[in-house]
Amino acid sequence: MQGLLAAPLLARSITRAPAATAGPVSERPKRRARPGEPGWPSAAQWDELRHQTGGRLSEVHSPLDACRDAADGAACHDVFRELKNPYFIGDDLGLTQTTGWADAWTFRPSVYAVAAATTADVVAAVNFARAHNLRLVVKGGGHSYLGRSNAPDSLLIWTRRMNAIVLHDAFIPEGCAGQQQPHHAVSVGPGAIWGHTYDKVTTGGGRYVQGGGCLTVGVAGLVQAGGFGSFSKQFGTAACHLLEAEIVTADGAVRIANACTNPDLFWGLKGGGGGSLGVVTRLTLKTHDLPAVVGGVHATIQATSDPAFRRLVGQFIALYAERLCNPQWGEIVTLRPGRRLDIRMSFHGLDQRTAGDIWRPFFDEALAGMPDDFAFVSAPSIRSGPARHA
Ligand SMILES: Cc1cc2nc3c(=O)[nH]c(=O)nc-3n(C[C@H](O)[C@H](O)[C@H](O)COP(=O)(O)OP(=O)(O)OC[C@H]3O[C@@H](n4cnc5c(N)ncnc54)[C@H](O)[C@@H]3O)c2cc1C
Repeated sequence: MQGLLAAPLLARSITRAPAATAGPVSERPKRRARPGEPGWPSAAQWDELRHQTGGRLSEVHSPLDACRDAADGAACHDVFRELKNPYFIGDDLGLTQTTGWADAWTFRPSVYAVAAATTADVVAAVNFARAHNLRLVVKGGGHSYLGRSNAPDSLLIWTRRMNAIVLHDAFIPEGCAGQQQPHHAVSVGPGAIWGHTYDKVTTGGGRYVQGGGCLTVGVAGLVQAGGFGSFSKQFGTAACHLLEAEIVTADGAVRIANACTNPDLFWGLKGGGGGSLGVVTRLTLKTHDLPAVVGGVHATIQATSDPAFRRLVGQFIALYAERLCNPQWGEIVTLRPGRRLDIRMSFHGLDQRTAGDIWRPFFDEALAGMPDDFAFVSAPSIRSGPARHA
């Protein structure tokens, strides 16, 4: 986002000359041009960008504007109903999954957006923003908790439509021939989300790719943030699976980054934060053999008193330390108001019976034997099945 245009851009790794001209960074004003101020592009200049991007530039309007006009109106009611659907949010360039934090930031859409379909669209938008000293933001899955994919008075590069997903049996990063063995891998566009990627890699291809738990998070945003998922204790972070990226840096150059080509840039992309180093236009991630079986353990337990709740938490932590703190287990256990322990854990590489044996002492002996102290709000469920259908 803002750092994108200010970053020194790894001058050592520049592979070709900048595609558009602008004065040296030090000579340009620090404040970006805002609508109505001198330097804000004219209508004709915006038209030029629209032409360069095949008509994919548009003004951004938030669907929430309907609520500012008439909070009780049908249009506003419809928007709020749709906001429960994360796919609706992701498909609208004027929305994000997180609308702000109290007293920290508030969601404000950009003024214009390029709904990029090609790397050339991204190059045109980056060059335009640099030439006119504009705020520039990039949005993929739109799940930035910190609001980094939106900024008022900015130009947005929206990558949602660049969502191709391609599997490889023998991928060798560019320039790495003779230095790396071929990898099983998947290449994704910057607009791909994890749900579609899992579907292609696991359901379709019978392989495992490390991502996160939320199906509508963007692959590009999660990988650049590090990325932790259900089975990261086994496979590591999503970022450590990055084999190669194509990226448009702030000078408008299209670069390949991998362990052999632009390795500094590659290193920075593996967790250095979305938008810090440029706009990623393709990522290639290593895939693994799929575990044969995956499963889940779900239960919600309520304690009837504070001492009983402390005992419940203590018993769970003892079980966790002894049997669950290992690469086969992942996901979340939450302590909720009302003395509730909410268990939503996943496992792989264990059959249902073995998983049941691990939990039985906790569920049967520790809890069911003390009905005055604990109640199951939702009964324990331990299920497993072929990973390919997960
Ligand atoms: C409901 C929810 C569940 C989550 N679950 C998990 C989880 O299980 N594991 C986990 O590790 N994290 C999780 N996260 C955090 C998530 O991984 C990060 O917020 C991530 O950065 C979101 O990526 P995005 O593309 O969806 O979001 P965006 O808001 O689109 O982007 C996030 C950041 O990356 C930048 N960016 C996006 N695309 C590009 C691109 N092509 N090139 C350069 N920069 C780009 C944006 O400018 C922004 O700075 C979750 C977040 C939410 C809201």
